[in-house]
Amino acid sequence: MDLSIVIPLFNEDESLPELSAWIEKVMIDNNFSYEIIFIDDGSTDDSWKVIAQLRVVNNHIKGIRFQRNYGKSAALNEGFKASQGDVVITMDADMQDSPDEIPELRKILLDGGFDIVSGWKKKRYDNTISKNIPSKLFNAAARKSSGIKLHDFNCGLKSYNNKVVKSIEIYGEMHRYIPILAKWSGFKKIGEKVVEHRARKYGVTKFGWERFINGFLDLFSIMFVGKFGKRPMHFFGLWGTMCFFAGFSIFTYLTISKFFFDQTGMTQRPIFFVAILIMIIGSQLFLGGFIGELIARNSTERNSYLIEEKIGL
Ligand code: UDP
Ligand code: MG
Repeated sequence: MDLSIVIPLFNEDESLPELSAWIEKVMIDNNFSYEIIFIDDGSTDDSWKVIAQLRVVNNHIKGIRFQRNYGKSAALNEGFKASQGDVVITMDADMQDSPDEIPELRKILLDGGFDIVSGWKKKRYDNTISKNIPSKLFNAAARKSSGIKLHDFNCGLKSYNNKVVKSIEIYGEMHRYIPILAKWSGFKKIGEKVVEHRARKYGVTKFGWERFINGFLDLFSIMFVGKFGKRPMHFFGLWGTMCFFAGFSIFTYLTISKFFFDQTGMTQRPIFFVAILIMIIGSQLFLGGFIGELIARNSTERNSYLIEEKIGL
């Protein structure tokens, strides 16, 4: 199969018929073999009914329905597990992403040998200040910390090589960082294509201002887990030891100065408390690292590595 089109949706019943008709047209024009996987993320409107009806007339359409609203990441994760196409496209259900971009996204991916080609909404149609400025900040932070040169990490429209989607797991709100997760898994060839962005035709946006706070927290945990998830001691142990020795040196200095130079009592000097404080913080950090290490050892993931190829085995 050429293409799997994975579409997470939450209360988008008005858009679905138009969207699937448009995708179908693009697929037929380009002669692709395809499937459309709708993941109904616990919609409370008629979305699921509409999907069932669409399936009756087009059996390329498949659906997964969640019992409740788990979020876009969960929906994508399930869609990824189900997808069979050589190239997997993700897009939003609200018609803000244009299906006309699909053939080109696929072509760039295959011709360039990319693992991911991400859309870039260069000209946005939800140009409110509350979306635009935080989004710029957020992309800059993601670029800086991950070293991936993308302008628009969070664009819903992306194409993936099938093996990429099968080897990453997304949950929480990590759909914003799929390129980073992919990079940590060793899929480093990440490209970008300017895509057409359209105004939302039906319904309302499902993400409010909290997205940015959650977004930054998630970025932080992804970077941390990616770097130190399998070796927490290298972070906590290092800082713990440094803190402890900093405190210990101040302490030694205070002791020497008390016995050999001026006779002021150690506890009379504020720096004494600073020394104690950083020694305690240091040992706490060290303990944190040690506990982290024990947890990491117990994790079932501790020895899961992606093997690209084998020979003679
Ligand atoms: N979505 C979802 N589950 C959620 C929230 C959103 O599946 O809990 C879907 C939504 O239906 C849409 C896509 O994720 O297809 C992007 O959401 P939205 O258009 O509201 O975000 P925006 O374009 O405003 O960033
Ligand atoms: Mg949208």
